[in-house]
Amino acid sequence: MGSISKYWHKLSPAVKLTVAYVGILMVISLFFSVVLYNLAANQLANSLRRQYVQLQRPNGSTVIVPSGATPTQVQEELENGKQNLLLQLLYFNAIILALSGAISYLFAKQTVRPIEEALESQTRFTADASHELRTPLAAMQTEIEVTLRSKQLSLKDAKDQLESNLEEVEKLRNLSDGLLRLARTSESQLLDVEKIALSCIIQESIKRVRSSVKCKKITILNKTQEVELYAEKESITELLVILLDNAIKYSKEKSIITIKSKSGSRAIQILVCDEGAGIAKEDIGHIFERFYRSDDSRTKQTTTGYGLGLSIAAKIVHLHKGNISVKSKVGEGSTFTITLPRYSS
Ligand code: ADP
Repeated sequence: MGSISKYWHKLSPAVKLTVAYVGILMVISLFFSVVLYNLAANQLANSLRRQYVQLQRPNGSTVIVPSGATPTQVQEELENGKQNLLLQLLYFNAIILALSGAISYLFAKQTVRPIEEALESQTRFTADASHELRTPLAAMQTEIEVTLRSKQLSLKDAKDQLESNLEEVEKLRNLSDGLLRLARTSESQLLDVEKIALSCIIQESIKRVRSSVKCKKITILNKTQEVELYAEKESITELLVILLDNAIKYSKEKSIITIKSKSGSRAIQILVCDEGAGIAKEDIGHIFERFYRSDDSRTKQTTTGYGLGLSIAAKIVHLHKGNISVKSKVGEGSTFTITLPRYSS
C-alpha cells in the first residue's frame, strides 16, 4: 500500500487525472456490463427452454417434452452462449478502456496545462521578486555592519551611511510600488470605462513626468489629434506615464520625445517615439516580461528600474482588449505603439 502511494505521488497531475477519469468510466461500464450479462443470460436461457414443447394430455394434465434437442445439448448451448457473451463484453470493456484512456489523457493534459503554467509563473514571480528584494537588503546589511564595526565613526561617515541606506530604501519602495501596481492590474479586473478625450490623458501624463523631463532638459512634442475614446482614464494615464518614463530614462539629455496618434473608425493608435538608446533585437521579444531588463540597463547604474513597467503596461493594454508593440534600432531610438479600441465591447 505504501509503495502504491509512493508511486502515485510520483505521477504527473495529468496522469493522475487520467487514472481518475478512466476509473470512473470503467466502474460505470463494468456495472452496465454485469447488468447486461445477467439480462442477456436470462433471455438466452428462456429462449432455449422454449425448445421444450408443452403438450396437453387427454386427462387434462400437461407434460413438457423436448422439441428435437436433448437437455444436455440445450445446456451446452446455454453455456456456449454465456461464454460468447462474456467474451464480447470483455472485448467491449477493453476497447472502452483503451479509448477512454487516450481521450481522458488528452483532456487531462488540456485541463492541467493552464493550472501548471499559472503555478510555474507564480513560482518564477516569487523567486524573481525575492531576488530583487534581496539585493538592496544585502547591500544595506553589509554597509550597516561595516559602519557598526568602525571604532572612530565620524558624523560625516554616519551621514554618508544614512544617505546610502536611504537610496536602497528608495529602491525597495519603488520595487514594492511596482509589485503592488502589478498585483492591482489583474487580468480579471473590471474596468471603470468612460468617454475620455485623448488630449486630457496626454496632458495629465506629461504633467506626471515633468520633474524628470526638467532634470534631463528633454522636450516632449505632443502631436496627437483631438479624439475621444472609451477607456479607464487612470490606467491609460498610467500606461502613458510608463512609456514616457522609459523614453526619458533611456534618452540622452536634451533629446526629443514625440507623442503621436492615428485614429480609425474602430481603433486608435498612440505612438511614443524617442531618440534614445534603442533596444537590441534579442531583447525586444522579452521586454514585456516581468523583471526583464536588458543587460545594458542592468549594468548602467544611471537607469533605475526593476523590469516591471512594461509588463504592467502590457496588462493595462490587454485589459482594454488592445495591443502594444515596439519598433526600435540600437542607437537611433524606439517607438512604442499602443492600439486601443475606440469603443468598449
Ligand atoms: P525598467 O524598469 O527596467 O525600465 P521596463 O519593464 O519598463 O523596466 O522595461 C524593460 C526593459 O526594456 C528595460 O530594462 C530596457 O532595457 C528596455 N526599454 C524599455 N523602454 C525602453 C526605451 N524607450 N528605450 C530603450 N530601452 C527601453
